[in-house]
Amino acid sequence: MALIDIIFPPACLACHRGLGRGQKILCIECESQIRKISENYCQLCGSELVDGSCETCKDTEFYFDFARSSMRYAAPLTHLIHKLKYQGYRVVARYLAQKMAESMQEYPEYQDYPYLVAVPLHRVRLRERGYNQSDLIARHLARLTNKKWIRPLQRVHYTLSQTNLHRTQRLSNLNGAFRVYKAAEIRGQNLILIDDVFTTGSTINEISKTLKAAGAAKVAALTATRA
Ligand SMILES: [Zn+2]
Ligand SMILES: [Zn+2]
Repeated sequence: MALIDIIFPPACLACHRGLGRGQKILCIECESQIRKISENYCQLCGSELVDGSCETCKDTEFYFDFARSSMRYAAPLTHLIHKLKYQGYRVVARYLAQKMAESMQEYPEYQDYPYLVAVPLHRVRLRERGYNQSDLIARHLARLTNKKWIRPLQRVHYTLSQTNLHRTQRLSNLNGAFRVYKAAEIRGQNLILIDDVFTTGSTINEISKTLKAAGAAKVAALTATRA
């Protein structure tokens, strides 16, 4: 047994029960609660369909070519993502990237997209958190899928947290929030935006608009989870 296992007995990051041999991050019970999004989703935005129609696309114009998510944003993933974003558990990024790599295998539409672009954090928030969780995910995912992780974007506005805003507020809150500072890297290229959660799609949409205005050919998105 490694010394680290004696000092910190390995426990499930969601429910804190002890982990058995060969288990990492989540115990078997928590792992079994994860719901993948692999059927009955909107071909454009990737949301799960309700009675055959998409609530998310209904009154939004999306600039991305398509978006998909690996899993539903529910327990235990809500706990894991909270740990990743607010408690310094970088190891969660690798776990999520693994799941996303599996999804990418199932979605042939990503084949013609060689570049991964993480949703950037503003430098003030980056300083608070110490890292950008989406960068960590994109870096692992690039390694797992043989795609190239590039960083052509900056977040220039320190936007309010999107969580407590209405949909229209979310959109205006983000207007002009991102800037492409390495346009040569993306001109004529097909890019995949990477993030942890897709909620209304407003962040990914604003970035897609910005990237296309700067010359990107196509922009798709893959998020670990979908609210
Ligand atoms: Zn557990
Ligand atoms: Zn849709």
